[in-house]
Amino acid sequence: MIFDILTLFPEMLESPLDHSILGKARERGLIRVRTFNIRDHAVDKHQMTDDRPFGGGEGMVMKPEPLVAALESLRREEPPPWVVLLSPQGRLFRQEVAWKLAELPRLVLVCGRYEGVDERVARHFVDDILSIGDYVLTGGELPAMVVVDAVARLIPGVLGNQASTAGESFAQELLEHPQYTRPRDFRGLRVPDVLLSGNHAAVRKWRRGQALLRTKRFRPDLFARIRLTAEDRKLLEEAEGRPDEA
Ligand code: SAM
Repeated sequence: MIFDILTLFPEMLESPLDHSILGKARERGLIRVRTFNIRDHAVDKHQMTDDRPFGGGEGMVMKPEPLVAALESLRREEPPPWVVLLSPQGRLFRQEVAWKLAELPRLVLVCGRYEGVDERVARHFVDDILSIGDYVLTGGELPAMVVVDAVARLIPGVLGNQASTAGESFAQELLEHPQYTRPRDFRGLRVPDVLLSGNHAAVRKWRRGQALLRTKRFRPDLFARIRLTAEDRKLLEEAEGRPDEA
């Protein structure tokens, strides 16, 4: 999959993409990430990319001409891209959106700065607008990194063990169960006995109960959407009865 990122600060994006899983995925050709400087498409002699808002007010707004010129040049390349503007006003970027984006051959991410981009760009020149959460950052570069990371790890082959995305948080509107590793006893804090039992069915049930419990506790919004089976209710009740494990 190809990720093309339009930004005024391409150098902000290089390092996070060079390491660990994303770095290896790039080396192996599973993903390609290209960054483009919007300023290279500025038309006037001062290479202006922003200007004062019409109607007055604080800050600067990103001008449409360089952004649209950059987008038009990217749209001329194959495969045709899906263009996403990062904005706190977009629809929320959730795991299900990441799964959808991971099916695309090419994704263009547009990073805003200052007060954001001219509204005509947002309305007429992008395919979608995504927000990574209800807070305002100084620019779209970190949100673009969030999207690249979340989407890239869903592409077959990027994670060593693809099965690991199946049961993780948000895969079924649930937070993942708690994880433990060695030592069994750390400063008197013991790993729950069931995980050491070797009884796979019991482990599976315990994990389901714990996942339900922590979703109920930490994300009541997600919990409200789950259709609980009779078995789920029982496992949840059992988990609630063991507060020291939760
Ligand atoms: N004036 C805008 C508003 O109040 O909605 C905020 C602009 S913000 C300071 C500058 C840029 O950062 C945005 O154009 C966007 O690209 C990016 N940005 C900030 N917060 C974001 C978020 N939660 N999700 C996605 N992008 C964000």
